[in-house]
Amino acid sequence: MKLDTPIHQLVKKLKLGELKSLDLVRESFNQIERLDSDIQSFVLLNEKAEEAADKVDQKLAQGEDVGILAGIPIAVKEMFCVKNMETTACSKILKGFVPPYSASVVNKVEAEGAIIIGKTNCDEFAMGSSNESSTNGIVRNPWDFKHVPGGSSGGSAACVASRMVSASFGTDTGGSIRQPASFTGVVGLKPTYGRVSRYGIVAFASSLDQAGPMTLNVRDAALMLEAMAGHDPLDSTCSKQPIEEWSNQIQEDVHGKVIGLPKEYFDDGLSDEVRGSLESLIGSLERGGAKFIEIDLPHTKYAVSSYYIICTSEASSNLARYDGVRFGKRSSSSTDLDALYMNTRSEGFGDEVKRRIMLGTFALSSGYYDAYYLKACRVRRLIQEDFIGAFKKCDAILGPVATTPAFQIGERIDDPVKMYLNDIYTLSANLAGLPGISVPVSVSDKGLPIGVQLIAPHFMEQTLFDIGKKIEVLTGWNQRCPDVV
Ligand code: GLN
Repeated sequence: MKLDTPIHQLVKKLKLGELKSLDLVRESFNQIERLDSDIQSFVLLNEKAEEAADKVDQKLAQGEDVGILAGIPIAVKEMFCVKNMETTACSKILKGFVPPYSASVVNKVEAEGAIIIGKTNCDEFAMGSSNESSTNGIVRNPWDFKHVPGGSSGGSAACVASRMVSASFGTDTGGSIRQPASFTGVVGLKPTYGRVSRYGIVAFASSLDQAGPMTLNVRDAALMLEAMAGHDPLDSTCSKQPIEEWSNQIQEDVHGKVIGLPKEYFDDGLSDEVRGSLESLIGSLERGGAKFIEIDLPHTKYAVSSYYIICTSEASSNLARYDGVRFGKRSSSSTDLDALYMNTRSEGFGDEVKRRIMLGTFALSSGYYDAYYLKACRVRRLIQEDFIGAFKKCDAILGPVATTPAFQIGERIDDPVKMYLNDIYTLSANLAGLPGISVPVSVSDKGLPIGVQLIAPHFMEQTLFDIGKKIEVLTGWNQRCPDVV
């Protein structure tokens, strides 16, 4: 199958005329047709994909430079606006909303020749860790349909793991790229906050949200970042840091690299299976020349509580715009304006979103603001300082992505606190704005993938790619894929 091949090799073949983008797109749709009624990773397919592929093929035939993703099929999480394609954030409240413009990052990859195959399923407004809270239904893990693919970018992870596309976009507010990547055996990168424009992405928690790629290997993630990153005048938080050719600069040599192991990430909450996989990986990296040191991130224990105050507060404010007047759904059963707002929001939002709006509205309300939101912001600063201190001693930090491999569908959905605690190892990178990557390392006894997380200083994605690539070589993970494929 062609969609198993690394992107840079596919692009090379396309440019040499040995392969057509149309063939890749057809393979993509065949694979979706064969598997997606079970997996449910797509909510909408792009009817114009073949036409777009044909155009790329024609340009290539004329020797035009189409871009670094020329003719490559990719999928986009339902949180990204794509011009003239319904965009709902997997919520009933946005049903029928068709944006007249695309997110900047969608425009960027299209300008590099990528073909958008469709929109992927996710937790409603990207709130969740299991992809069970989407109005479009549950996504299944391609490694075992009884298990979740992780969330909130579960559809984006599952479609890459099952070779329906070469790569996908996810969003990561507290772990939603890295955790599903770990659960489905793909690579997931959360870039530095500000590396990728947020313009045109449905906002969840604006100071934490960041878009990033999900791919089959580390080099593809670097290439995707090259296409996605860069300054955007339409997003005032988007950085002017230059884009580098990360994918061509990867050096998998870890000799002399100092890697920090946070004590707090290897505590009792970590399952033996994940701990065992990481310990054997650490041994292999040590034999490869890396030096490990123990580090301290003492405020980790406050990460979950401060994250859930900050993200719910920002969400309550961001989601205030869905009032039945401007976007998507409008309740038909209202006689006055107040009832219109109330009925639209009551009917349109799901349980988890309502829970967060209530929590966030409470935390921001007068009299409680200082005690909750402001305090959480102060704790966030302490968490950032923990990392600044740690990076004086090491080049990168290594730890788990989640406490366990993928859990079963239904296992945690009725216990929100248990679900929130699952994010303990990923949230801090968002609170501190740092880049993090999940790279697959092994499989559990039940045959479910386990990933490792690497975190680097701001704008040091190259370090993640270098160490990540070494891990890929050491584990030989590239050879593995789910049986259904
Ligand atoms: N699981 C976390 C939450 O529910 C993270 C979500 C995300 O990164 N979008 O908030």
